[in-house]
Amino acid sequence: MQCDCQTEIEKKLLERFKSEYPNSKKHECDLSGYAMVLGKTLEYLPAMTIILRHTVTAKSGAEREKKIEQKMIGNYCMFCGQPAKPQQTEV
Ligand SMILES: [Zn+2]
Repeated sequence: MQCDCQTEIEKKLLERFKSEYPNSKKHECDLSGYAMVLGKTLEYLPAMTIILRHTVTAKSGAEREKKIEQKMIGNYCMFCGQPAKPQQTEV
């Protein structure tokens, strides 16, 4: 990511969480929705989870529901709109 939205938002959410539960300790906040993606370098990019379900019929005729989870990678920060990766300049 090229912006600090994830860090900034996690910090704000953690502050609010702490104020809501002042008698607790070891508060933590992780903003999920990002994935490590290996390209030319290892990058941390926005990722939306896609859940696919289907019913499979076996040769015996028995039906079974199957679930597949995949990640769809975003190109922009969903908070500020900046491109997630540095823009390539064409020569
Ligand atoms: Zn951002």
